[in-house]
Amino acid sequence: MKYYIMFGPPGAGKGTHAVALAEKYNLRHISTGALLRDEIAAGTALGKEAKKLIDAGNLVPDSVVEGMIETAFETASGINGFLLDGFPRTLGQAKDLDAILAKRGEKVNGVISIMIPDSLVYERIAHRALIEGRADDASPEIISNRIKTYHAQTEPLIAYYKEAGKYHECLGTKPTIDENRQLVLELMEQIPE
Ligand code: ATP
Ligand code: MG
Repeated sequence: MKYYIMFGPPGAGKGTHAVALAEKYNLRHISTGALLRDEIAAGTALGKEAKKLIDAGNLVPDSVVEGMIETAFETASGINGFLLDGFPRTLGQAKDLDAILAKRGEKVNGVISIMIPDSLVYERIAHRALIEGRADDASPEIISNRIKTYHAQTEPLIAYYKEAGKYHECLGTKPTIDENRQLVLELMEQIPE
């Protein structure tokens, strides 16, 4: 099994491009954000707890997302691997993922990082708020806290994966989704088998 990570700030286009990559390479796309939104929609206890954190622009506890990831790894038939979107988001999650995979005799194959400046994060998310109506996209204060959370807790993963020789980065700043997708597909082709 192959394990790839889609990395980048909120609104970088991780989810959008993950769908195309998953189809082309026959990978299962796992978005922890989408799984959490399913829990919220289903009104579970986990969903209720997560909603408070997500709607404030904070992360949910590592143990919660790691549980969801381990469950998702259980069913792996008919695919070449997994494409993780929005996970890991903390150094703790990255280290735990390495441990989870090591137990299975597996490893992370590569990180696909899509970089955009903070100014574009605001623009993209404000636009998405009009389309998707996500509560955590709704106000500049929440977006600002998500950006802060990204820089403080998620950005350190860049050094972690560079150190491991697994970090591959492209810009996600082109005006159209198609142009950005092309860059992401080219990046994926550079990742060794
Ligand atoms: P993008 O727009 O690039 O797809 P995003 O950052 O806008 O990404 P999601 O990845 O869907 O949005 O995440 C939404 C929220 O869910 C996060 O702000 C966070 O509160 C929570 N979340 C998702 N993944 C994790 C994770 N790995 N660890 C902790 N919290 C998470
Ligand atoms: Mg997403």
